[in-house]
Amino acid sequence: MKVYNTLTRSKEEFTTLVPGEVNMYVCGPTVYNFFHIGNARTFIVFDTIRRYLEYRGYKVKFVQNFTDIDDKMIKKANDENTTVKDLGDRYIEEYYKDADGLKLKRATVNPRATEYMNEIIDFVKGLIDKGYAYEVNGDVYFSTKKFSGYGKLSGQNIEDLQAGARIDVDDRKKDPMDFAVWKAQKPGEPAWESPWGMGRPGWHIECSCMAKKLLGETIDIHAGGSDLVFPHHENEIAQSESLTGKDFARYWIHCAFLNVNNQKMSKSLNNFFTVRDILEKYDADVVRFLMLSGHYRVQLNFSLELLDSAKASVERLYNSIANLQHLYENVAENSIKEEEKDYLQSLYKYRERYIEKMDDDFNTADAISVLFDLAKDINTNISADSSRELIKSAENLMRELGEPLGILQHSNNESLEEEIEKLIEERQKARKEKNWALADKIRDDLKARGIVLEDTPQGVRWKKN
Ligand code: AMP
Ligand code: ZN
Repeated sequence: MKVYNTLTRSKEEFTTLVPGEVNMYVCGPTVYNFFHIGNARTFIVFDTIRRYLEYRGYKVKFVQNFTDIDDKMIKKANDENTTVKDLGDRYIEEYYKDADGLKLKRATVNPRATEYMNEIIDFVKGLIDKGYAYEVNGDVYFSTKKFSGYGKLSGQNIEDLQAGARIDVDDRKKDPMDFAVWKAQKPGEPAWESPWGMGRPGWHIECSCMAKKLLGETIDIHAGGSDLVFPHHENEIAQSESLTGKDFARYWIHCAFLNVNNQKMSKSLNNFFTVRDILEKYDADVVRFLMLSGHYRVQLNFSLELLDSAKASVERLYNSIANLQHLYENVAENSIKEEEKDYLQSLYKYRERYIEKMDDDFNTADAISVLFDLAKDINTNISADSSRELIKSAENLMRELGEPLGILQHSNNESLEEEIEKLIEERQKARKEKNWALADKIRDDLKARGIVLEDTPQGVRWKKN
């Protein structure tokens, strides 16, 4: 298996520290709001990578943190007249609702920064003891110049970084590149007791600390959105490697950003969608399909039109499964026939192709094409003359290859059927109101999707074409 490593800027053969096991840390959300579809892309991508590693037989320990103390949390809690703790509790609960809605597998652990204060303080103490960090009036800064590898992840040299940082000179720091690992309490802020007085951790230190505590000093995969390469992950490396003297993460994987209608998503541009909004109208399979339709290292465009076309694509795949299920109920022959054996083997070639694509740096876009080729082959070659064993094997294969992508697992076509019934009802209503144009439009739209309506004395029936 090959994985692109941001650290070396190359695709590398994937090996793990302990054979058969993967320790993976993903930077999670700051829990002050519902999460948006940009976050969803990153979470879906790393959920898929995790599922695929499991599919390939690895035992994966998957840690994704909740940032539950930082400036944004404090501001939002003040705005809402609540405590940072309550705000965190509330949005963690909401996070799970949306994450479950997107079929994200639950992490092995979702640590909260505020629950690791003792470990974070010990980490900072360790850095000071080793001479990598220094205290100034209750703040503690990391001395970037002391860590010779600074800049290695983002591929920037320290002079360039410094030139940028000079704009933001801060008298308390010995060097403009230094960053806070511990922040002294300001009036009204929540704070914890520490050897440097009341204060709270900087953002980067929580991930260094929780990764070490839960996964060990060297982990296999560290991941996050591409905006985190600098400074967040660069700073994590500096802190962790200074403290332990060991490599922090063996593979750094970053997911490119999602744009909306080809623009950066932002509330002011009115192109901001939460996962909650989208899941009201679209199934998780559809959202995941869209998010995985491009390679994770390439920016992805999102729009409602693209979601609609993803929906039609997912339906095509589910239609193949529904046809197989229908055939299965109606054929007589049970066991696979002699002449079908070669054909079944030829279907298993799609599995090999799929694995080849996914093994190449998790190329979900190409893996999805393989799924369509498989569906087409099945639609053409499996019929009422086939045996049940062949039909079932074909269905199992589609579902097996859908699983790492988190799609095609619905037990039957429940959501499609529900939707069609709803549309038929709407059409009946339109006819009662003599709105023939709408009634015809609904019938034609369904027809375009391969669904034919028949008016019978018993009411309207529908069938797949
Ligand atoms: P945040 O809550 O902003 O810290 O983000 C949580 C995760 O979502 C991080 O890994 C971010 O890099 C990622 N993320 C934020 N915005 C986007 C976006 N528009 N596209 C893809 N990933 C994003
Ligand atoms: Zn992080």
